[in-house]
Amino acid sequence: MGRIRILSDTVANKIAAGEVVERPASVVKELLENSLDAGATEIRVDTENAGRRLIRIQDDGCGMLRDDALLAFERHATSKLSDVKDLLAIATLGFRGEALPSIGSVSRLVLETRSRDEQTGTAVEIAGGKLLRCDEIARPVGTTIAVRDLFYNVPARKKFLRSDQTELAHVGSLITHYSLGHSDKRFELYHEGRELLNVTPVSTLRDRAFQVFGSEIMQELIEIAPKTFELKLPPPYVPPHIRQGSAERPEPEMALFALEGLISGPHVQKQNRNSVFLFVNGRLIRDKALLHAVVAAYHNLVPAGCFPFALLFLNCDPGEVDVNVHPSKTEVRFRHAAAVHDFVRDTIRDSLMASRPVSSIPIPASPVLPLRSDTPQRAAALPFSEFTSLVQDAEIEPESTGFAAPQNGAPLPEISVPKTPSPTVIAPPAPVARPSVSPIRRIPDTHGFLTQLPGDWDRVDSFDALGDLRPLGQLHDSFIVAAARDGLWIIDQHVAHERILFEHVLRGRSAGTLEIQQLLMPLVVHLTPAQQFEYARIADELNASGFETEPFGHRTIAIKAAPANVGVADIERIVMEILEVSEIELRSASLDEIRRNVCATIACRAAIKINTKLEPQKIEWLLRELAACEYPMTCPHGRPIALRYSTKDILKSFHRI
Ligand code: ADP
Ligand code: MG
Repeated sequence: MGRIRILSDTVANKIAAGEVVERPASVVKELLENSLDAGATEIRVDTENAGRRLIRIQDDGCGMLRDDALLAFERHATSKLSDVKDLLAIATLGFRGEALPSIGSVSRLVLETRSRDEQTGTAVEIAGGKLLRCDEIARPVGTTIAVRDLFYNVPARKKFLRSDQTELAHVGSLITHYSLGHSDKRFELYHEGRELLNVTPVSTLRDRAFQVFGSEIMQELIEIAPKTFELKLPPPYVPPHIRQGSAERPEPEMALFALEGLISGPHVQKQNRNSVFLFVNGRLIRDKALLHAVVAAYHNLVPAGCFPFALLFLNCDPGEVDVNVHPSKTEVRFRHAAAVHDFVRDTIRDSLMASRPVSSIPIPASPVLPLRSDTPQRAAALPFSEFTSLVQDAEIEPESTGFAAPQNGAPLPEISVPKTPSPTVIAPPAPVARPSVSPIRRIPDTHGFLTQLPGDWDRVDSFDALGDLRPLGQLHDSFIVAAARDGLWIIDQHVAHERILFEHVLRGRSAGTLEIQQLLMPLVVHLTPAQQFEYARIADELNASGFETEPFGHRTIAIKAAPANVGVADIERIVMEILEVSEIELRSASLDEIRRNVCATIACRAAIKINTKLEPQKIEWLLRELAACEYPMTCPHGRPIALRYSTKDILKSFHRI
């Protein structure tokens, strides 16, 4: 007799449950999705013992007919698909018909439901996959499902559960994020009677985010206004001899994508990806390629390895995305993955750029504080050392890429806390890095990098005075303060130096005059297959920019020399960064773009960091070199180098004009 047997439904369901039901939060996810598919507008979830003892979900959706209530527990029983063709365009969150039987096989489950089309409701009780009862009951339209004693019959799975706090946090996070995806619905979550979430319907995502996160984080978030993208693909090629016969010409393929959401500015830096929420057609998913697109948008704005907060809703024609990749439906596959990746990256990047801080110090429309008779002279005569002591309160985090950024969304350093005695006329400048929307115009770009400047930036004479800046000192060992005919300048020492080095490396490269340092011992670096591939593509460029590298065995390269101005400890990191950026962002880049990217990375790593005290000679040298730059406005990644508080604005603030 053969050894192969067909598994009983009970065993098959338990196996499926292993894939669908991992923890209380996965039960909540499946049930929540069912409620949303049923058109519910009010959903309430009650839990006990972090969902182990009880998960009860109540909705006001369409409910189920008596027959359906029983059928729902059969494997692959679903009302959402009828044909294999439907699989290509799934518009509901569920479709596999696996959730209810799977959950029913690893818990004691009671389903109570009533459809609008029936006078009475139905109660179904299942335990360990066995039907215990099916009764008629009286109840309003909608569905309530209570899942008790999760995994009571699968002790092994139970052991894998984490602490109550962790499990509850997963449940909370899941409901919170579904609530963000459906602002027009009410969501409630209670744990043992304690309210954890209660959000009423609102009309915009911003309002919902406000309900969920509160006002503080909202100030840090940038809204991505809905943006659409039409992907047009050439019609498939049809050979002429076949085409002749048919009168119709093939239509080009079209696909429409739309993205909206909320993202944090570059100053919010998370240590992990847990704050990136991606919804594709209303479904919360995990997708490496999309996550990659988000991270790529922040490239060079946040240190490598840091993640932003992002809440993104991507909508597209259901045919463009395959959601049937994983039983828990948390992964998707796009038909045109590369186009979607670039659309998401560019849209986020554009929103970030558009909300960039204004690069001049804004003055208040009317004096913020009443002028006191004794203060104008005091402030005017205030020596610079005292001026700097006024702002010592602000802390700047050490960082590696040069972007001043407090961690974890902490408030930005405000240069506005005067200590006693208070020189009231020093109008507190606005925090320099707070997002503020200003009209952006594109200026001619000589280097192929981002070069958007705020609309009120006068490019022609803004930098005229750069040649005769008189340094006054350093602010926080990070910013150079200088006086000029046209006002007070603040220069970011890191980005200024970055620009100087960038132009230096670029020039030296074409003139063949780059200084290099030979390493005593070659540095041996292991590459991933993807990096190996990238290396093969850009090795010549790398070597022409001051590195001396060569393949060294299987997926390994040896670095024998590097540009003179980079620290030995940084060499490996620079090479890895160049490989990574070139892989992510420059897949289709021209040689020229690759070259600029290599030079920009070298410049960024070699530049003076912030939080570095500079000797007066060094400051003077830096200003001189900056003035000699061909393009001293922004660093190679597009960040502004200098802020100016113009003499005119100063006079205005003092009511002298
Ligand atoms: P799927 O969601 O993949 O169809 P499920 O096992 O999750 O599979 O659910 C089976 C069926 O039960 C659904 O197709 C739907 O018809 C019905 N159903 C489940 N939950 C609800 C609910 N809350 N309201 C109305 N119908 C529901
Ligand atoms: Mg379902």
